[in-house]
Amino acid sequence: MQSLFPKCPICDSEKGYKFSTFYPLVACKACKSEWALYEDEMELKSTCALGLTTGLLNKRYSFDFWKNLEVEGEPKQTMKGNSNALVETLRSFQRKLEKLKKEKTALQTEIEKIRKIGQEKIRMKEEETTALEEEVAKLKKELESLKELIGSLE
Ligand SMILES: [Zn+2]
Repeated sequence: MQSLFPKCPICDSEKGYKFSTFYPLVACKACKSEWALYEDEMELKSTCALGLTTGLLNKRYSFDFWKNLEVEGEPKQTMKGNSNALVETLRSFQRKLEKLKKEKTALQTEIEKIRKIGQEKIRMKEEETTALEEEVAKLKKELESLKELIGSLE
């Protein structure tokens, strides 16, 4: 039994099995599900696993059937599936968060860069404006002195 089903087909426990008081029944040490063993079949005699279809009780099924139950049976697999899905969802959110954090950092760096370029450009324009204002003031003075010169010639 242990070698055929390292994990109990019903509860997934690895605790192992023991012979029931009603030999040759074998019972899972964890969930107490009882099985009758045949050459290549197994019959579930009793189980307290909730949600398990009682249709499985007292019927002989092949070992393969019980092994498949291990993979896709209900309800333990549903619970397992749900928690796996939850873990997967959590992980995918974690990945999204990581990605968003990286994007945020990249955007902040970009904004900082553009801000610096902007400030630099503004500073250059200010200098240019000041220089132009000075030139205009100079030209105005020159114009004034030329006007004075022309005035004195008349
Ligand atoms: Zn069990």
